[in-house]
Amino acid sequence: MHSLLLALTLAFTPVSASWDWPLDDQRVERRFDPPAERYGPGHRGVDLSGSPGEAVHAVAAGTVTFAGQVAGVATVTVDHGDERSTYQPVLAEVEVGDVVGRGQRIGVLGASHPSCRATCLNLGRLRGDDYLDPLEALGGERVRLVSPDGPPPEPPAADTGDLIDLVGGRITSPFGIRVHPITGERKLHDGVDLAASCGTPVPALSGGTVSYSGFRGAYGEQIEIRHADGRATSYSHLSGRSVGVGDAVSDGEIVGTVGSTGRSTGCHLHFMLLIDGTPVDPMAHV
Ligand SMILES: [Zn+2]
Repeated sequence: MHSLLLALTLAFTPVSASWDWPLDDQRVERRFDPPAERYGPGHRGVDLSGSPGEAVHAVAAGTVTFAGQVAGVATVTVDHGDERSTYQPVLAEVEVGDVVGRGQRIGVLGASHPSCRATCLNLGRLRGDDYLDPLEALGGERVRLVSPDGPPPEPPAADTGDLIDLVGGRITSPFGIRVHPITGERKLHDGVDLAASCGTPVPALSGGTVSYSGFRGAYGEQIEIRHADGRATSYSHLSGRSVGVGDAVSDGEIVGTVGSTGRSTGCHLHFMLLIDGTPVDPMAHV
C-alpha cells in the first residue's frame, strides 16, 4: 500500500471440517461437480484412486448410519454430527449403530463404481440434503502465496491454461461418464463445460479450417474446426456464429459468441476435442 515492496503472506484456505483421507493413496481421479438441480447430472462426491479389497477408513469419528446396498452399490454412511460421509463401493465391516473412530477401518473397497474408469472410492460429503466438496474437508495443497493488496491468484491450471482462458471461465463440468442418480443411465459428457456469460466472444483454440458451422441438435449452434495436426475442436450452444464452412481461421480468431442453444440449461461453452473423429478429454490432450 505504502511501499512498492510487495509483502507476501501465506494464506491458508480455511477448512470447515477436517477429514483424514480414507485410502492410503491420496490421489483424486475425479473432482466434485455438484448438479444444478437435485436430480440433475453431476458428480456428487470425489473419486479417489484405490485398488479392490484395500482397507477403507473413516474420515472422522462418528456413528455408522447405513451399511448396505444403494441401487446395487455397496455403501457405508458415517454420521459425524453436522455432516455425513458416504463411501462407495465399500463392503462394510461395520454395522449400523457402530461408533467408529477417525481412521478406523470400516470395510474394503469393492471392484468397481460406475463413475470410475478403474477402481476407485466415491467419497461423498453431506450436510442435510446438500452435497459439499469432500476435498475441502480433506485439505491438500491449499496453501498459496498472495499479495495482501491484490486478489488471491488463481491456482495454476497445469498445462491446460489455453483451454481455461478460452472464454475466461472455469470448467464447470469435466469430460467423462456421468451417471444419472435415478435411472442409473451412464452417459458420456463428450466435452468440457466452460463458464461464460451469454455473448462472450469465443476464440478458436488454434488455427485451422472451419469444417462445420450450423445447428446440430443437442449441441445447438456449433462451429467445428479441423486443425493441421488432424485433430478437431468444436464450440457448442453458441448464440452466434461468425465463420462459415471452408473459412480459414487463425489462432485465437473469434468464431462465435457464447449462448445456450440446443440442449442447454444456461449460457456456457461446451468445448470438444476430437481425435480421428472421436471425442477425447481435452484436459488430457490440450
Ligand atoms: Zn457440456
